[in-house]
Amino acid sequence: MSGLIILALAAALPEGAFAERCAELIGSRGAVAVMDLATGRLLAATDQETLFAKHYPPGSVAKFLTGLVAIEKGIELPDGFPCPGDETLRCSLRGGHGIVDFSRALSQSCNLYFQSLAKDLSAEDLAALPRRLKLDGRVGVDLPGEAESIVQTPSSDSAKLAFAIGQGYSIQLTPVAMLALISGIATQGELLRPRLSEGQPEVLSSFPNQKALAKIRPLLRDVVRSGTGKHADITTVQVAGKTGSSTVLGNWVTHGWFVGFASYEAPEIAVVVFLDRGEGKDAAHIAGLVFSDYFRRAYAEH
Ligand SMILES: [Zn+2]
Repeated sequence: MSGLIILALAAALPEGAFAERCAELIGSRGAVAVMDLATGRLLAATDQETLFAKHYPPGSVAKFLTGLVAIEKGIELPDGFPCPGDETLRCSLRGGHGIVDFSRALSQSCNLYFQSLAKDLSAEDLAALPRRLKLDGRVGVDLPGEAESIVQTPSSDSAKLAFAIGQGYSIQLTPVAMLALISGIATQGELLRPRLSEGQPEVLSSFPNQKALAKIRPLLRDVVRSGTGKHADITTVQVAGKTGSSTVLGNWVTHGWFVGFASYEAPEIAVVVFLDRGEGKDAAHIAGLVFSDYFRRAYAEH
């Protein structure tokens, strides 16, 4: 890359105390991006390389996509699913989640529940929703060097079960694509194209089924109020979102994710936190600090 291009990129980056605070909060542990939901503009983007130029399995964030597909397809959502979490069927909670229904399975991020839903869905059905949302390919951020996210139809039963919980090779998204995805839940349907320049919002894609979305959206508030995202729960504003921890293939380390928005009732910003090494709860903690800082500044000024 020539020096001129680097200069142009640097000039396009968000400035200001809030963006600097986001950079401080994440340090060298990963990346944070914050979208203004009125315009799609990025108010902070701490590490372009990580946010735009690489893709990763979304981990448990993908469970709400699997949930949406299951609702759309009219699959029965069991109320009394027993998650054993034993040695042969290990879940994200080692001792198991006990008896879970759909809501609790999402807020507690039960792998076995969502994999059981996936058994009644085809590989094509699972891959169709993220494709329809235009998450395969580039979301079109206005910077050079954006990597293409990957959404492939899983080619075996085991790949399908991995896909349903956001693991494996078949679904790999850039953090900025994850931000576009959560913007669509925040706005109750429309995924906004993330960008650094000023201007009118651009819609990247829309969720196809409003009924299914209306069922999932409140559950993302539960994730933060009482589930795996509770480290993002702050006193000043209601945060909603989803955690994820994705296994780095062939390794024992995990990447941590949190995608969310606030406020739940009247969303102003969406946030993605990606931790290069870590878990969803750690990413949620950083997101909580980002939301806190944003709303403190936004409302101190008025
Ligand atoms: Zn479980």
